Amino acid sequence: MNIPFVDLKIQYQHIKLEIDNAIQSVIEETAFIGGKYPKKFEQEFANFLGANHFISCANGTDSLEILLQAMEIGEGDEVIVPAFSWISTAEAVSNVGAKPVFVDIENDFYCINPTLIEQKITSKTKAIIPVHFYGQPANMPTIIKIAKKYNLKVLEDCAQAHGATIENKMIGTWGDAASFSFYPGKNLGAYGDAGGMATNDINIAEKAKRIANHGQLSKHDHLIEGRNSRLDSIQASILSTKLPYLFDWTTKRIQNAKLYNELLNDIVVTPKIRENSKHVFHLYVIRTKNRDKLQQELLQNGIQTAIHYPTALPFLPCYANYNFSEKDFPISFQFQKEILSLPMYPELSEKQITYIANKIIKK
Ligand SMILES: *Cc1c(COP(=O)(O)O)cnc(C)c1O
Repeated sequence: MNIPFVDLKIQYQHIKLEIDNAIQSVIEETAFIGGKYPKKFEQEFANFLGANHFISCANGTDSLEILLQAMEIGEGDEVIVPAFSWISTAEAVSNVGAKPVFVDIENDFYCINPTLIEQKITSKTKAIIPVHFYGQPANMPTIIKIAKKYNLKVLEDCAQAHGATIENKMIGTWGDAASFSFYPGKNLGAYGDAGGMATNDINIAEKAKRIANHGQLSKHDHLIEGRNSRLDSIQASILSTKLPYLFDWTTKRIQNAKLYNELLNDIVVTPKIRENSKHVFHLYVIRTKNRDKLQQELLQNGIQTAIHYPTALPFLPCYANYNFSEKDFPISFQFQKEILSLPMYPELSEKQITYIANKIIKK
């Protein structure tokens, strides 16, 4: 049996007619940039989250950067980020001129460890960026408490967690603002790059909207300088077409994770779900001491896996100037050698999951 790590083709085949029609409409109307398609998706995604404002942009890295700028974070400021994430989370901080300050992750949930945040706060700290990692909500109630105590902004990185909740409240509505990516492989994915920003704060919303569109809200009113970071209409129409399916796709991801957990609980370290949370399983990540060997054996049996991510952020060459050692981030350092992402997508069948689990059990 051959099992890919993700299968975007099978999803397209299920909704092909709708998607093709959506793309065709944009082309026939030559409504490529701006106008009704991005506006429609922005309204729909704001409703989905229950957020007052949702502003689309070009990708989920721009959204982080633009929101930091909209919150007036830059040169001389420090921003707290998890030691384990995709590089965008830290990169965005550096790109606005601020300094990323890494905090190790939780042993059980892979998200930023709130008990380690306070010791990293200085007079320069302006914000915390919790990442809802692998689809698991970060511990938002505790993070919000710390942020309030020190008067810090909270910017949620929701790139891996569309539709996740904690205490029945959507991720992306806890902090001052939230960043989303719609990269093709995310839980809600476009057919190219796409991103967006959620907030209930009208000032952040307006500023972010300006920055993403050359500093203008209406044509030629360049109050500030901005940049070009727009969601194009083809991507917007695809996202509008896919959004109604997201809940169902997420339910299937959760079912798949449950089956994996049942089969693998005694064999490897399987993912735990935080109390009172909905984990949306963007990735299904196990841990095992002989990770590389297992990955090789699975590949020989036709099973594609991946590592998210092979090097924790503080140990990447681009942060070598900080001279971090493994003692600074012991959990991240250990986990980077043990984590393995198994195939995970809504259309994965029970038969495929059982096949994968059996190969892991027999290894
Ligand atoms: C994918 C991702 C991003 C960036 O999204 P792009 O749209 O690829 O720029 C940011 N943060 C996290 C945690 C991600 O997984």
